Amino acid sequence: MSAIIQFHNVSKHFGSLKVIDEVDLEVHRGEVVVLVGPSGSGKSTLLRCINGLEMISGGDLIVDQLSVKGGNKVLREIRQEAGMVFQQFNLFPQMTALENVAFGQRQVRHVGRTEAKRHARELLEKVGLADKEAHYPHELSGGQQQRVAIARSLAIKPKVMLFDEPTSALDPELKQEVLNVMRTLADEHMTMVVVTHEMSFAKQVGTRLIFMEHGKIAVDGKPADVIDSPPNDRMRDFLRHV
Ligand code: ADP
Ligand code: MG
Repeated sequence: MSAIIQFHNVSKHFGSLKVIDEVDLEVHRGEVVVLVGPSGSGKSTLLRCINGLEMISGGDLIVDQLSVKGGNKVLREIRQEAGMVFQQFNLFPQMTALENVAFGQRQVRHVGRTEAKRHARELLEKVGLADKEAHYPHELSGGQQQRVAIARSLAIKPKVMLFDEPTSALDPELKQEVLNVMRTLADEHMTMVVVTHEMSFAKQVGTRLIFMEHGKIAVDGKPADVIDSPPNDRMRDFLRHV
């Protein structure tokens, strides 16, 4: 099985602060890697390095056979292959749900207007929002907005989906509808890296769980195994508080 994401001895500094510390990591096609760890351990930065929102300081990072150090043109390609969903949904407020989902395809993939709309409708249906296409973000619940954001990321046909605490801003009753969409993607063998505190999702959907600490991978194992018997005290302590 070929690795679609490869970290080779990757470091990331912000000034003198080392946030990612010589990480080696391979993510294979179809894996659902759940990333957990204390606040400030480097989870978001790790994700942001994958799609070039942050540039690495050392080592090499290959995404779908492209190096993030390959320059702007390559970075644009990488961003098309790695869709990202954020805690704050970041939809375009002046666009309807349909326009939000259609927009990136036109910009990034140069898809025609009619085809972009057709595909956007298909994706809104997939995330259970076929009846909301004409709604603006402020007319949607948080859970609905996040599902539009997922549809928008999927619209550019990424090979990998990166999720940074996608349900952390949502009320408990709205989390599940977003997690269900993510579960569907996993069932369809989408490769995913997911930062989340939802341990039941990690157990049921994750194929692998990574616990980060001070910019390093401290634990890497099968979700059920490492959640039920954490291999170190820090992870046990962490799990007690999520
Ligand atoms: P996590 O997502 O695990 O909470 P982050 O990756 O967001 O951790 O942050 C890791 C560390 O890097 C934190 O100490 C944070 O303050 C710092 N950091 C993140 N982004 C920046 C930035 N753009 N400039 C300076 N420091 C940053
Ligand atoms: Mg974070």
